[in-house]
Amino acid sequence: MRNNKDLFEESQQFIPGGVNSPVRAFGSVGGTPIFFKSAKGSKLWDEEGKEYIDYINSWGPMILGHAHPEVISAVQEVAKDSLSFGAPTARELDMAKEIVKIVPSIEQVRLVSSGTEATMSAIRLARGYTQRDKIVKFEGCYHGHADSLLVKAGSGALTFGQPSSAGVPIDTAKHTLTLSYNNVSELEELFKSQGNEIACVILEPVVGNMNLITPSAEFLNSLRSLTEKYGALLIFDEVMTGFRVALGGAQELFGITPDLTTLGKVIGGGLPVGAFGGKKEVMQKLAPLGPVYQAGTLSGNPVAVAAGLKTLELIQKPEFFSELSSKTKTLVDGLTNAGAGEGISFCARNVGGMFGLYFSDNPPNSFADVMASDREKFNFFFHEMLSMGIYFGPSAFEAGFVSAAHTLSDIQHTIECAKKAFSKIKA
Ligand SMILES: *Cc1c(COP(=O)(O)O)cnc(C)c1O
Repeated sequence: MRNNKDLFEESQQFIPGGVNSPVRAFGSVGGTPIFFKSAKGSKLWDEEGKEYIDYINSWGPMILGHAHPEVISAVQEVAKDSLSFGAPTARELDMAKEIVKIVPSIEQVRLVSSGTEATMSAIRLARGYTQRDKIVKFEGCYHGHADSLLVKAGSGALTFGQPSSAGVPIDTAKHTLTLSYNNVSELEELFKSQGNEIACVILEPVVGNMNLITPSAEFLNSLRSLTEKYGALLIFDEVMTGFRVALGGAQELFGITPDLTTLGKVIGGGLPVGAFGGKKEVMQKLAPLGPVYQAGTLSGNPVAVAAGLKTLELIQKPEFFSELSSKTKTLVDGLTNAGAGEGISFCARNVGGMFGLYFSDNPPNSFADVMASDREKFNFFFHEMLSMGIYFGPSAFEAGFVSAAHTLSDIQHTIECAKKAFSKIKA
């Protein structure tokens, strides 16, 4: 049997940092990452045979729980026929029709293979359509790792952006303006001074990449009216929130219609699928019809699309989202009460099947609020819970996820474990 520690050590010789995506390395919480071997429903098993209740769900995609029999058999059926054609298939049409039906702001959609590709392509499309270069994003939102999105605010919110990663040219970053989430006056000021140069505003309509942050109604309404007034496109990055906070995503929940939407995670049911879509008039600027180039050898891959289609079918069962939400609410309420019972400065909240855990008295509303929470307490809590077989995201800046396969007894057990962890924090 190979243990996690040996696997991590050997992996570091062959893979940079031992991982294929940075957060997996446990850099934020310290310790050895867990190497997983199998999963079923709400449970995971690692290489050492230890069992965990999973609250990451592959960062969202496994909304039906792991190894759902109908999804697995859909994948197996399709795999028998071909793994890839690099040519159109009927299944892609079925998928596009399904997305258009579920997300009414999307009139046409193109499939890609990751969330990063979806946001990168949506931004190119917005720039091509508006013939403007500047884009606006918000501090703490994550939109994948394309160059123009790995940018932080310059010295003032209205000045040129600075690369947040080495390798991103300053000349690229300078076109990205980064504002504070939920800050309406900053947004108004920016549009007043540069509104006619802005191609698009991209945001997570519920942020899941700086723990979990919800938008104020005023913020969303200003975004919609200002972009409309100045001819900029509003892009909802629903890679995480799509088919997760509600069937139709955050735009359904809040009743806001964006111009473009990006999707990923749940849409592939655990296989690599992303998508971007929106108004037909905008989407028709894409190649082969229009001047905005975008392509993908494995885009619309039959096996990945089969997993996604089956997942989308199953989450449309009546009461799916009300049950998922109420279960997630039971978890966050239980955790909040457990924290209060031990006198810990802690709270938690959910939006649909997504939740945030905060070591602070009140939920945060911005990146600055998140940074002010007690990370040391989170890290201690994370490791206590992990040792008891509860797998939360290994960082105080990640949202958590509940699946349809989580049972009330999973949730009760998690709350009991949290009580123990909180009592150790107090002591
Ligand atoms: C995960 C995520 C992405 C990137 O998706 P990948 O499939 O990891 O490339 C983009 N935007 C948001 C909001 C995400 O949560």
